[in-house]
Amino acid sequence: MQVRRTVIQCRNLIFHFAPDPHNALRGFFFAHVGWLLTRKHPDIFIKGRTLNISDLIEDPVIRFQRKYYPLLYIAFCFLLPTLLCHYLIGHTWFDSLLVGSFGRYIVSLHCTWFVNSAAHMWGDRPYKKDCEPRENTWVSIATWGEGFHNFHHVFPYDYAISEMGLKVDPMRWFIDLMAQVGQVWGRKRASQYVVNSARGKNL
Ligand SMILES: [Zn+2]
Repeated sequence: MQVRRTVIQCRNLIFHFAPDPHNALRGFFFAHVGWLLTRKHPDIFIKGRTLNISDLIEDPVIRFQRKYYPLLYIAFCFLLPTLLCHYLIGHTWFDSLLVGSFGRYIVSLHCTWFVNSAAHMWGDRPYKKDCEPRENTWVSIATWGEGFHNFHHVFPYDYAISEMGLKVDPMRWFIDLMAQVGQVWGRKRASQYVVNSARGKNL
């Protein structure tokens, strides 16, 4: 998917080179959420300005999302979950707001942050041992497949971020579904030969 590809490019350029904004070598708390509480390193702004995000800017869906972000944020992050919780499950308005909206948001934020923290600290490194990110099944379950992080850092151009057929990656399934309806094209994969070679060299 175009968006995911560009996001991956951004992450490769900024996040995988010094200074990593959520560097797990600075400890779990910093990698998980502490980086949001500190000022960004000046080099992050310098690196950020070198990124080519013209494909994102030209995308009408991205432009729509950016233009109406505050409205969409309130509608889909707070309003819709509260309404669903109240009308579908039958909770009170207060409980729906507290659990269905705020609670759901807190859980999803932590699941996302685990990719920067837990998936950089605990798990196997089958593709590159001297690469800090790991394959963390629990993070993958919590994030719909984003926890296969050793693979992702070693093969950042691979849209599936895991070995086809061996791993559960619902995000990849969604991208594949979008490809079927013409919303996604140009999916790149690391060849099995390249993956096997990396794994062999890593033994
Ligand atoms: Zn990472």
